[in-house]
Amino acid sequence: MKLVFATNNLNKLSEIQSLVPKEIEILSLKDIDCNEELAETAATLEGNALQKASYVFENYGYNCFADDTGLEIDALNGAPGVHSARYAGEECRAEDNINLVLQKLKGQSNRIAEFRTVIALIIDGKETFFEGNCKGDITEFRSGLEGFGYDPIFLPNGFDKTFAEMKQNEKGAISHRAKAVEKLVEFLYYHQI
Ligand code: IMP
Repeated sequence: MKLVFATNNLNKLSEIQSLVPKEIEILSLKDIDCNEELAETAATLEGNALQKASYVFENYGYNCFADDTGLEIDALNGAPGVHSARYAGEECRAEDNINLVLQKLKGQSNRIAEFRTVIALIIDGKETFFEGNCKGDITEFRSGLEGFGYDPIFLPNGFDKTFAEMKQNEKGAISHRAKAVEKLVEFLYYHQI
């Protein structure tokens, strides 16, 4: 069976391909000749994931899944959340997003935060959602060079180093995305898809 992962992120793609049953061939957007930028204009992570998966299912006819992730900070009422990629503006870099978060949390003692990933899967028109989360705290200063996005300021619960100080496999064992993917893979096995 062919299943499209609505992403052009090669890291995410190879991670998934190594986890799903061998009978499932994971295709990227490029593999199906979908070269347009997929819209992510919904107000929630669930909405965005579904928007991307639906676009591929409706326009290309493939069974498909898509993901969306956000960092939800307690003291900021869940921001940046669905706006995590562009928190500091349309053309911003990860560095700018981190600076904005640190500035907004200056002097704030509640630094509780959570990464949340939602995956929307569409098989023959039927939608199923999977969620993974990772709870932690926002540090006062950035630390570490690994990873991407907000990793240098996210301290997962039970660890004394940020995501950016962890090796990829260490982060992969506890991350929000890994947990959501695990649920997706379980579903695919269980339903013998
Ligand atoms: P996406 O849905 O995976 O594209 O993630 C949206 C945004 O959330 C990214 O641009 C990053 O800023 C942030 N983000 C997602 N996953 C992670 C992560 O594992 N570590 C740090 N930041 C992340």
